[in-house]
This record gives sequence, structure tokens and C-alpha cells, in this order.
Amino acid sequence: MIVGVHPLAGFDKLLHYKVPESLRADAGVGSLVRVPLGRTLCLGVIGEIGAPKDFPLDRLKAVAQVLHPFPALPPDLLGLARWMAGYYACGLESIIETMIPAAVRNGASLKQEKLLSVIQRLNEADLAVLTKRAPQQARLYEFLAQQFRPQKKSLVLSRLDITAAVATALVKRGVVLETAERVERIAYPESAATHGELVASQPHKLNPEQQSVVTAITAQLAGGKFGVSLLHGVTGSGKTEVYLRAIDTALKSGGGVVFLVPEVALTPQTVARLRSRLEAIAPDHKCVVWHSHLSEGERLDGWLALATGEARVVVGARSAIFAPVQNLKLIVVDEEHEPAYKQDETPRYHGRDVAVMRAKLNGALCLLGSATPSLESFVNAQAGRYQLLELKQRVDDRKLPHIDVVDMKIEVMRQRGLTTLSRKLVDAMHARLERREQAILFINRRGYSSSMLCTKCGHSEECVHCSITMTYHRSDETLRCHLCAAQRAAPVRCPACGAPEIRWRGLGTQRVEEAVRRVVPRARIERMDTDTMTKKNRFREILSDFRIGKIDILIGTQMIGKGLDFPNVTLVGLIDADISMHIPDFRANERTFQLLVQVAGRAGRGDRAGEVIVQTFTPQAEAIQFSRHADFAGFAAAELKLRRDFHYPPYRHLIHHLFRGPNPEKLKFFAEQWAKLVEKTFGTRVELRGPAPCPIEKIKDEYRWQLWYFVEGVTKIIGELSQLRDGFAWPDDLTQVLDVDPVNLA
Ligand code: ADP
Ligand code: ZN
Repeated sequence: MIVGVHPLAGFDKLLHYKVPESLRADAGVGSLVRVPLGRTLCLGVIGEIGAPKDFPLDRLKAVAQVLHPFPALPPDLLGLARWMAGYYACGLESIIETMIPAAVRNGASLKQEKLLSVIQRLNEADLAVLTKRAPQQARLYEFLAQQFRPQKKSLVLSRLDITAAVATALVKRGVVLETAERVERIAYPESAATHGELVASQPHKLNPEQQSVVTAITAQLAGGKFGVSLLHGVTGSGKTEVYLRAIDTALKSGGGVVFLVPEVALTPQTVARLRSRLEAIAPDHKCVVWHSHLSEGERLDGWLALATGEARVVVGARSAIFAPVQNLKLIVVDEEHEPAYKQDETPRYHGRDVAVMRAKLNGALCLLGSATPSLESFVNAQAGRYQLLELKQRVDDRKLPHIDVVDMKIEVMRQRGLTTLSRKLVDAMHARLERREQAILFINRRGYSSSMLCTKCGHSEECVHCSITMTYHRSDETLRCHLCAAQRAAPVRCPACGAPEIRWRGLGTQRVEEAVRRVVPRARIERMDTDTMTKKNRFREILSDFRIGKIDILIGTQMIGKGLDFPNVTLVGLIDADISMHIPDFRANERTFQLLVQVAGRAGRGDRAGEVIVQTFTPQAEAIQFSRHADFAGFAAAELKLRRDFHYPPYRHLIHHLFRGPNPEKLKFFAEQWAKLVEKTFGTRVELRGPAPCPIEKIKDEYRWQLWYFVEGVTKIIGELSQLRDGFAWPDDLTQVLDVDPVNLA
């Protein structure tokens, strides 16, 4: 048998090897193998079975090892890898490395615990002899003989304070048996996850809307064909319950399930809730949890459980889409509009789009859900490519919260100057304290305020490495760059003109906290952002304190806006809605609308109605007006018209090409030469914008230029484009990166 192997060695090539007789049983397409390459052995994945065309077979080297008796990349994943390499114009090798966790590639084996048990009882005479000749062995024997089950070797040895040699001697005598048992490691041990939290594991009785959606999904699943359904359900409409019913159906029919959630939503609370429900649905199956904070051992265990079919369902962040789930029948993508599904390093894939493709390769159902669907998915549903399912009511007829928009221009006049908190918001907070209800305040920027401004000369401090303004952090009086983390002491006089007239512009979480403490001194306040979350369990602690009512007002970045469900929160304030509207990104409106609707959705989840106060300098903006009534259809219609006029997605695909290097003139020169070549080669098939310097011209001392391609379809041109790129004579000190369907443009 001869196989073609993709070596995981930093290059893209299929190399051929013989498979020795002894390894044949385990070797197949997708197997993880070790093969000789140069003078070392390297890992690789069998990509095909068959001989090379023009290579003397007798000179082929042999596969040295097959790591598992099952494929590390089942056929659907191998197919997916090939599709991704083409679509995202990146090496197959980088994708295979992403798909197979490092823990598996490193060849780590199962963590095993050795167990000891007595298999031959000694009579009194023999025991007496043993006690005399080898007292340690006798002690171990006597201890083990009293136990009902096998004992962990490591524990026994340390407890009796004896060496491993003693146990080995007893094993040699045939008195004691040593066995190995696989150790289960579970991410988020149940006890910690449920600490201070209520875990609802009982299924709800579906309301009529949920029921009709579930019926439609069940029919789709029964059809057993590829399909995509978009579940558009307002916040609090009970989407999770719908997902769980769909998962139940898929599992009962013997299928496997991938459930994707944004990384931030993988709080212990959600995980525990999902897990208890899923394990109730499929009691004989484990539910594997998958996210970036797992230890290698945990990841390996989860991966093995899925690859061997011992587990059939995985809940995880973006990369869980590559979990080796067998007989995949259903993929759920919750909060499908989330930018976090896009990976911003190679391979730059979009988890939702890859999910749709994987479902296609498996003839499975892909269920996308959101209260604010991405316009990409929405257009697909409008065009009939996706099935549109809607939940228009909140469960139990809870009302969507009332949204109050406060015009900060008027507030400035009223309060004679810039202020952080409007009267209305302050009054609302006082009212909550009186009624012992809770409030959440959002501000989408951490730190104290965004930048320093000298009111005399207009100077503003920028990071010398990154050409963006530095952010003032009051707690330690520093200026910090949020891109490269450079920091220095905050100046007391303007570094340019020496004047003492320094002002701090913009708002951050710290400044909001300070302002709130001033106006409601009695309140118990906590701030939650990446600055305060450096300690490992802080996030969990604060959420749990908030849940049990130890905190009145929680202040944070959008990190606390996702999927949280606190019944006693009746006030949500958005301090500065303009921040997300003024980023240089054509999706700025869409992001703002999503932010407002999602944030508002955190209010009024209990029996009491919620109130949402949005502060802005541009109250007339469409994103704000439509969000007041959670009018997704209205917003989508207005925004889609703009997108169509400007040829933006979802009507065109964008490809971003980044050039970076130490020499700005050289960057400009090569970017322009390259753009000319593209123009000549593709003509009207590609619309070019640029090349131009990036909005952030310099990061970490490297200059950056960019070029945009607007195209009708990616697959029609990407192959040609990347070939052309590979043949272009790029200088050594220039790095260039292609990003297909980029998500964060700012
Ligand atoms: P969404 O994800 O759509 O915002 P959730 O799935 O978080 O909504 O559900 C909101 C709340 O309603 C949750 O506390 C959930 O347990 C509850 N819920 C869901 N379905 C029902 C139902 N049929 N009857 C009563 N409560 C429900
Ligand atoms: Zn910097």
C-alpha cells in the first residue's frame, strides 16, 4: 500500500510513502502518521491512497507510525480543509494544523492512572514469611487486601510511604495485579460551574411559536438533506430551548451535533445549563466542551471521546467546528452575527461560513440563530437559500423593554458642559436603588478616557509604534496603547508646547465608574472589563455576586452584553452609542444596531418591565431609531439599500490585501505595481480600491498599506489571484496577507 501524506512541516506538498504490512490495518485516508522527512520524523495526515505518477516506487520511504486506529481527519473534515485552503487562499497545512489540536499532534497519549488490586490471597503462613523477609511488601499487601476495589497506585504509595519497586515486586510474585484506567478530565467541573448559580435542567413546555419552529426543524432533520435555517428570534424569545429540541431530535436519530457559541458566551453558567440539559437528553453520552482555555489534557480527552464516537455532541467556540464528530446531523451556530466567529490570524476563516460548508459536506442541517442576524444571512434567507424561522414574541409575553434615547447635545446645554451621565440616567439609577432592582451600564471602551488633548496647541499623544491615540488609565496614571500595550506615565503638561491645559477626551469604563460613584454613592458598584478581569475567576465571581444581589450596578464593556440572563435587571444604560458608529467600517451601522438590540435585551428578563436608556449625540441615526422598536426588518431594508448602492457585502464579496514592512516608500511602490498587474489580469472582474495606507498606518514599528478587491464571487477569482501572488517578486522585507470576507475593517 502506498499513500500520499500531507506533512505538517511548514510547507504544502503531498509526499508519498509505503505502508509496512504491520501498520496497514490502522492506516487510511485521514490517519495521523509519523513519516521520515530528511533526517527526522515528522507528523502528517494521509491525504490519499495511491502511488505517485513519476517516482520510482522502490525509492519510497516507509511510514514509521500510525498514531490512532481511526482517522484524525474523517473524510468530511479533509474535504472541508481542501475547500478552506482554496476559498481562504491559504496553505492546506495551516488548516490541518488548526483542525487537529496541538495536544493530539504532540502525540500525547491518554492520561492513565495505574491501579493496584490483590489477585491472589496469601494464607497466614505465607504472609508471615513475607512480613519477615519483605515487610514493606507485606504492608502493601495487607492494605490492598482490605479494599473492595482497585486502588490508585500513586495514592497508595504516598499514603503508605513506600516506593514503586515494592509494588513491582508484589506484581512479580503474582499476588497483585497492576491495571491502567483512563482518567476523565472534564472542563468546568460541575461543582465549580454551578457555584452560586441555579441550573435549570428541566425542559420548558414550548409556546406555540417555539412549537411551530421546532416542527419545521424536525421536518428538516427528518429529510436528512443539507439545509440552512435562520432562526431570527427577538431577545428572550427562548431560542436556546429550540436549539435543545433540535439537538434532542438529532441525537435520537443517532446523529452527532456541533453547537457553536461565541467564546465570550461560554460562561460557566451557560455551559453548566447546556450540559445538564444535553446530558439529560442523552444520558449515555458525554457532552464535550471546547474553548480556548482548556488544558492540553482536557482538549485531548474531548477530542478522543468524539473521534472514537464515545461522545456525539460538542459545545464550543469557533474552532469546535473542526471537532471530529461522527455522523454529523446538526450544527447550531448561536449568535451567528457575532464578529468573534471570524479568526483574525491564518487561516482567516469565518466559523459560521465554515459551519454551512461542513453541513453541506455531511448532508446535515445548519441552524443559525440570532436576534439580529447578519445581513449576509438575512439576504440568503430572503432569497430563499436559507429557511427563515421567526420567534417574534418573548416567552411568557414579557414585553421588550422601552428604549429611551437621550440627546446629549441638549444635555450639554442643560448641564453647561460635557457630562458622562444624563439626568435621566441618574434618576433611573436612583429609582432602581429605591426598588432594590439592578442596573447594567455599558461603555464600549475600557480605560478612563480615550485620549489627551492640549486645548492650547491641539496636540494629542499617539503611540510611537502604532499611530493611534493612547488611552488614559487613571488608576495608575498611565497612557497605554491598546494595540501594542506600550505604556508610559501620563503627562501633566502638554509634551508638545508645555502648557498645563490638558483635557481628556472621550469616555472609558473607569471614568464612568467614577461618575457613577459620585452620583449614587450608596450603590454597590463593580466594573468588569479586560483590565479588571486579569485574575482567573474574577469574571465568574462578579457575575455570581451580581446574580445573588450583592452588586447594584454593573459597569462594563460589551463583554458583559452577551447572552446573560439576570431577572432582576430592570435598567440598562448605554453611555455612548456613538463610539461604535464612528469606526471606519462599512458595518458600523450594523454593529451599532446589533449592540443596541442585544444590550436592550438584557433588561426586563424577569416579571418586571425593563427600561433602556441610550445616550448619543446623534439620536436621529437610523441604527438608533430602528433599534428603539427592535425593528430588524426596517433596519435591514434601509441598510441593505446603502450596501447595494456602494457595492458592499452582502451584494459583493470583499477581499482585503495587507502589505506591511519597515519601509513605507517600498510598500507603496510594490503595492502599486501589484495593483496594476491585478487590474491588467482581471479587468472588470475585480473592482480595486487602493492601494492606500491603512487607517492605522503603523503597528509595532511596521508600516501598513492595503488594497481592497470587490468581487461578485470569491471562488471565481481566488485561485487565479493567489497564483498570481505566488508568482510576484515580493521583496524580502515585505509581508502580505490576504483576508477573504474580512470582518473587522477598522
Ligand atoms: P434567547 O436566547 O432567545 O434570548 P433564552 O433562550 O435565553 O432566549 O430564553 C429566555 C428565558 O426564557 C430563559 O430563562 C428560558 O429558560 C426561558 N424560556 C424559554 N422557553 C420557555 C418556555 N417555553 N416557557 C417558559 N420559559 C421559557
Ligand atoms: Zn502601540
